[in-house]
Amino acid sequence: MDRNNPGIPVLPVGFPTGIQLINDSMLNKNTAFTDEERIALGLRGLLPPRVNTIEQQVMRVMGNYRRKTSDIERYIFLVSLQDRNQTLFYRVLVDHLEEMMPIIYTPTVGLACQEYVHIYRRPKGVFVSTKDKGRFSEILRNWPNRSVRVIVITDGERILGLGDLGAAGMGIPVGKLSLYTACAGIHPSLCLPVTIDVGTNNIGLQNDPLYFGMQHPRIRGEEYDCLIEEFVRAVEDNFPHTLIQFEDFGNINAFRLLKKYRNRICMFNDDIQGTAAVALAGLYSAIKVTGQKLTGQRILFFGAGEAGTGIGDLIVSAMEDAGLSEPQAREHCWFFDSQGLIVKSRKNLAEHKLDYAHDHPFVSDFAEAVRVLKPTAIIGVSGQTGAFTPEVLEAMASCNERPIVFALSNPTAKSECTAEEAYKQTKGRAVFASGSPFDPVEINGKIYEPGQGNNAYIFPGIGLGVIASKARYVTEEMFLTAAKILAAKVSDADFKKGSIYPPLNQIRAVSADIAVQAAEIAYGSGIAGKTRPDDLPEYIRSQMYEPVYNDYC
Ligand code: NAD
Repeated sequence: MDRNNPGIPVLPVGFPTGIQLINDSMLNKNTAFTDEERIALGLRGLLPPRVNTIEQQVMRVMGNYRRKTSDIERYIFLVSLQDRNQTLFYRVLVDHLEEMMPIIYTPTVGLACQEYVHIYRRPKGVFVSTKDKGRFSEILRNWPNRSVRVIVITDGERILGLGDLGAAGMGIPVGKLSLYTACAGIHPSLCLPVTIDVGTNNIGLQNDPLYFGMQHPRIRGEEYDCLIEEFVRAVEDNFPHTLIQFEDFGNINAFRLLKKYRNRICMFNDDIQGTAAVALAGLYSAIKVTGQKLTGQRILFFGAGEAGTGIGDLIVSAMEDAGLSEPQAREHCWFFDSQGLIVKSRKNLAEHKLDYAHDHPFVSDFAEAVRVLKPTAIIGVSGQTGAFTPEVLEAMASCNERPIVFALSNPTAKSECTAEEAYKQTKGRAVFASGSPFDPVEINGKIYEPGQGNNAYIFPGIGLGVIASKARYVTEEMFLTAAKILAAKVSDADFKKGSIYPPLNQIRAVSADIAVQAAEIAYGSGIAGKTRPDDLPEYIRSQMYEPVYNDYC
């Protein structure tokens, strides 16, 4: 407010007024604009007369939300709210995270991406495509907000466990960035979702008259690499010091791009590294339940792609941290892929699997592999529904007092087993976690509340720490530390309920702690781009966005 001219707000030149202000989702307060603001900003008559509080608005939103009869309708409703009023969207989301996480993220976001071109309303984020070659920098200049600090980019090739959804994969960067804001308080104006459309091999989409992406097959090889490189440079030109999260790329590109860029720019791959941290945290918690040591674990992965070998690599780092040599640590991790057990005698193994090819006879059946190797833990990251059959689960139960069973494939329908199957087949002895949420299960009168190995426990906090310290790179140590912090947050009460993760309603506190330690690592390793504040935890907490309305008068 200008003290000399009460009622006249001191707002930046060009600050929107009237209907333009109502249409600006970042600034809109809708019925919560005060009488003074309505006068000063040309809003009188454009809104119903009574001023509402944000609490009343939340009440209205929740009433409408809960009246929707399907999850996809709830998704559409929330996304439309985000288009109209970001503050209210985040207020509702932060206050109802447990209820809404399965809608704005897995499993419903998977369905939303499958339906994306049909339910499409307003564009979100930035699309760059093969037809924009040579113009990426120009395109990023079209983005209205110049303060971008986090980009989530997908090429849509491996959306959750659903495969190639082309440009319709945009739902994923949009959803992930909502979680950056809701879970770690990164201001929405700092976030930019991007889809790089390099074509699709999904024939159904190519033939869909409503498909809005490029209708040619995916480009590969040098042409593809040049487009990614052009994008990276366009980001450097337009938004220096921006963290780029690579999301849901096919593994044909994901490992290569991570290797190429991780020591050059500030980036990470969430499917490889974020998943690894959340799964390792689950393992740290699980061994508290089983009373064993990390170095006493033998882990058999079902699936040897981005998630599987990413988790394997971080477990190896954690075991090295616990005193083993790297070759010793690798001996504790075994992989089973679509061809069978990964062993030395197998020919033409992809590069990321080679370190885990042990000297052992080949086994083609997973249940048999469990019987032969007697793992303490099985981790499903294959996208293969029901792969943890009763036979597999019984084999785990017969060689372990408390078998560790993580069925991490997303969305729910792709899970290797359900929570109920895991508990039933092991007579309630399984230490279970899943990738998508499962409802509590009752076995012989006891209620089990399975934990969800949700990457949202990890990446928003790391992102916040990286931004706050202007870290030049995202390091492996940040993920290892994040896993330890997350595991330390699990309380006895959580363990008693059968959960090896803390409740989602604690996620902002978890993210803040992870952010502080990620920033400490950046400062400690000399990769921070600004001076360390005296009170780093306080500084980081002060950077966290709270969805409350600003006063414009
Ligand atoms: P990917 O395509 O890189 O790897 C899939 C792996 O599964 C490959 O090694 C493939 O050989 C193997 N596989 C496929 N069919 C198989 C079969 N019949 N038997 C044995 N192995 C088989 O995919 P990814 O990125 O590793 O993701 C895999 C799954 O993990 C997806 O469903 C994804 O949603 C899920 N995931 C979960 C989380 C989480 O819960 N936090 C995070 C990331 C990924």
